[in-house]
Amino acid sequence: MMFRNHLVVTTAVAITVVKHADFALPLWLLLVAIYVGSLLPDLDHPSSTIGRRFLFISLPLSGLFGHRQITHSLWPFVIILWVFSYEPSTMTLILAFMIGYASHLLADLVSDSGVPLFWPFQRRVGIKLCSSGSVIEPIIAFGLLGLSIIY
Ligand SMILES: [Zn+2]
Repeated sequence: MMFRNHLVVTTAVAITVVKHADFALPLWLLLVAIYVGSLLPDLDHPSSTIGRRFLFISLPLSGLFGHRQITHSLWPFVIILWVFSYEPSTMTLILAFMIGYASHLLADLVSDSGVPLFWPFQRRVGIKLCSSGSVIEPIIAFGLLGLSIIY
């Protein structure tokens, strides 16, 4: 999914979280955690919006794994939970971050290439509603945004 459509999907998720969950975090911090989490998976692509800003990370990640590999799997959740399990006071913030991260993976799930959730196994998980960058993509993203506002 393209960057701008990821932002729309993330906004839909953020609206849903703000409306239906009590995170005991300042609103600005909750939103920062969700949006940063939603951008991070594409750090494995040097041409992505976040990858261009952090080339020192995206170039090695891309070289080692390629795009839509380990960063688009369940591994980041396992690693983040393991690392931060030693600091329980950060769990609320980490949960918000992981909701954003998951929103990115869910948005990529609807594209034709899917995501390798169980990396290193290469079987891709997805529902193939559209191809990345197609005209259907913003319709899906704004549809989700509309649903989040209505419900
Ligand atoms: Zn992605």
